[in-house]
Amino acid sequence: MIKDGPMAENDDSVALATEGARNENTLRFLKSGARGLYIGGRFVPSLSGKTFETVNPANERRLAMVAEGGEADIDAAVAAARKAFDRGPWPRMRPAERAKVLNRLADLVQAHAEELAEIDTLDSGLMITVTRAGAGGIADSLRDAASWANKVEGETYPTGPDNFSFSLREPLGVCGIIIPWNGPAVLAARKPGIALAVGNTVVLKPAEQTPLSALRLAELISESGFPEGVINIVTGFGVGAGSALANHRDVDAISFTGSASVGKEIVKASSENFKKVMLELGGKSPHIIFADVDLEKAVPNAAMGVFRNHGQMCFAGSRVFVQRDIYAEFAAEFARYAAAMKVASPWDTAASIGPLVSAAQHERVTGYVDLGVREGARLAAGGKRNDGKGYYVNPTVFCNVNNSMRIAREEIFGPVASLIAFDTEEDAIRQGNDTVYGLGSGIWTRDVSRAIRVARQLRAGNVWINGYGMRNEMAPFGGYKHSGIGREGGKYSVEFYSEMKSVFVTI
Ligand code: ADP
Ligand code: MG
Repeated sequence: MIKDGPMAENDDSVALATEGARNENTLRFLKSGARGLYIGGRFVPSLSGKTFETVNPANERRLAMVAEGGEADIDAAVAAARKAFDRGPWPRMRPAERAKVLNRLADLVQAHAEELAEIDTLDSGLMITVTRAGAGGIADSLRDAASWANKVEGETYPTGPDNFSFSLREPLGVCGIIIPWNGPAVLAARKPGIALAVGNTVVLKPAEQTPLSALRLAELISESGFPEGVINIVTGFGVGAGSALANHRDVDAISFTGSASVGKEIVKASSENFKKVMLELGGKSPHIIFADVDLEKAVPNAAMGVFRNHGQMCFAGSRVFVQRDIYAEFAAEFARYAAAMKVASPWDTAASIGPLVSAAQHERVTGYVDLGVREGARLAAGGKRNDGKGYYVNPTVFCNVNNSMRIAREEIFGPVASLIAFDTEEDAIRQGNDTVYGLGSGIWTRDVSRAIRVARQLRAGNVWINGYGMRNEMAPFGGYKHSGIGREGGKYSVEFYSEMKSVFVTI
């Protein structure tokens, strides 16, 4: 097979690699070979001419070769974004005009949602049911973002009889956006939304494991009427395209979703020119189950709280704390639920667990399964790796876990749940907060006062009561402690993606 040759695949290899996909536009896209970088409104190969392969994790076949952007390509993309910001129409347009363009993109994404879902399922191994729901929501997110274009507000301040002052909120400039692979199309479209609505220009770096849907999105972006250079997309690796973007002196902000260790690198790189940083990092989120719950509801909910997306979620409720009185019964039900989950191809709409995203991730997760056994936890379900093709791991449940074990402290990012016993409300709060992370948390109880008491004391950016994992575009989303810096969503994103200026007027 050609490694660094022409980017168009031959039809037979595409047919094998894309097994399961039905939409003809998906296949057209994968056969088209149009997988360059998107810079200044044009699709271009990388300046080095290098490409890299992206693989279908369900069958381990190569889906496509994609342009590998490096430092020089990031320079070109940042220059295009800078020109569009400093001299282009976008930041100076009437807000309603910017909103119109974003809404046009929303319409196009809606019309092509099925393709984006199929491309993501092929590239990431996420279930088609999940990518379909995700792609179906992108248009609404973009419309929400568009609605913020005219809500970039300032204030006036009384100063004295002969003068007054006011604040002006202005777009920030060139925003670098670096995203992971666990929701590729959704993140590629949603994260830049409000940045664009406010009048910024963007350079987006998709994850190397899942670059394809962002490139399909680039085609839709080019049809939507954005002025050239407003959105640029550079595919490539973390060390390479990602690090060049984070270090770039002409980038005003980085918004990053990914691991805490890379988050640290982003903060270090930001000191180069004091760029603004927003980080959405990992978690080891506690899901606390009190003895008064209805097990029929709490068990499936807690299980999906950790196993959804095959456990590849930053806010996965991976530490399930169960009150001691019901621990044995809950653990047995939870293990039974996990063992009954169908592990199958991501195209199987009756299945809920598909392959992990990559061979590396498969190694990492199965390594943690072995570690749990060595640490003395009891394996109550799963633990099996797949012998055939595809990076599958069965939903795995560890009982009798102690919160100080590594499987309870380190983010696994796979379908592995740790069940830990607690005695009192105080004990649950203490153990729940005993982690370096603070992204998600869940509480199950019928006692409203207790739910609110516990919610107030958990050191986490999200608390879900009697139902895990909802998100609202208006609400602040982000983490305490090592789970991140800053908040995304509605006015919090407007604040991040803007700069404030005070103007003093003498009358
Ligand atoms: P994961 O471990 O889940 O793959 P990462 O944090 O490694 O998450 O990756 C998230 C995103 O960050 C990806 O787009 C990746 O390419 C990028 N990335 C990785 N390392 C760096 C780095 N040193 N600087 C900037 N971006 C990086
Ligand atoms: Mg892939």
